[in-house]
Amino acid sequence: MSITKTGWIGLGKMGIPMSQQLIKAGYAVTVYNRSTDKEETLKAMGAATASSPQKLIQDTDAVVIMVSDDAAITSIFSGENGLLSAKVSGKIIINMSTVSPAISKQMADLCEQQGNYYLDAPVSGSVKQAEEGTLVIMVGGDEKAFEQAKPVLEKIGKLTILVGDTGAGNKAKLVINTLLGVYSQGLAEAVLFAEKNGIKTEDLITLLNNGAMGSPYIKIKGDAIIKDNYTAAFALKHIAKDLRLAKDIGLSTPLGKVTYQTFQDAEAKLGNEDIIAVIKQVRG
Ligand code: NAP
Repeated sequence: MSITKTGWIGLGKMGIPMSQQLIKAGYAVTVYNRSTDKEETLKAMGAATASSPQKLIQDTDAVVIMVSDDAAITSIFSGENGLLSAKVSGKIIINMSTVSPAISKQMADLCEQQGNYYLDAPVSGSVKQAEEGTLVIMVGGDEKAFEQAKPVLEKIGKLTILVGDTGAGNKAKLVINTLLGVYSQGLAEAVLFAEKNGIKTEDLITLLNNGAMGSPYIKIKGDAIIKDNYTAAFALKHIAKDLRLAKDIGLSTPLGKVTYQTFQDAEAKLGNEDIIAVIKQVRG
């Protein structure tokens, strides 16, 4: 089956620019978002809208999902007028949200019982990469379904690889986000350590970015720290959630444990700010 009609569920910071890539690539896209006001941008670009996940899957070949967490996934699949209530078959459901391998296994089994395929396909990269269509996509699930979904995913990302069975994409993503958490806290601590020793943040970031440790991440987040701008591109509450999921699959390394605790402690106060607002937590 080749996918022509795609459905999209979840129009948050990532879902909007990611779904826009499919429209730009010429796919017929139908969208659904819990808060319907967020559908307007996509409607203006030519997307159709569906009143529920159930209606959305009935009218499309494949459904892509980009929502917050396991609870959102449960409601989209099993809630009233959820995907599973449509009782359709032969569809591919691609879940790009960062969620647990356990919920992927659960939903994949339910999809299989109805004759549908489920792929977990979380992404590395943030809003900028979503806007450029240069995300990195790691997929878990059936190889044939992956091959069918690949042309769609390649419009969203610059690299799409199958890393294993159901849940393997989620596991790879949690490993990567553990490093992201460690890296973010490390950058925050370096800035504060430099500050304590009279080194200006601008100078530290310039030095880092011109040396071997320079990276797109330090460039973006260093700039945010310099400008004191903590508007969320990747909300701190999401990395706090990811580190909890990482702990559930066995994260117990020294830096991993410290980073986990830092973000749990920061979440209540800084959850809606950007991940790099962790500098405020570390500053105390
Ligand atoms: P976001 O801006 O907070 O958007 C969350 C989306 O999930 C919204 O569409 C929201 O709907 C929907 N949602 C939340 N709870 C729901 C529920 N119970 N039922 C139905 N829909 C629900 O999040 P985001 O930054 O786009 O991130 C989405 C996912 O991608 C997360 O798993 C995150 O960890 C991951 N991720 C994010 C980034 C990043 O840089 N932002 C990068 C890589 C991966 P409403 O509009 O109705 O609230």
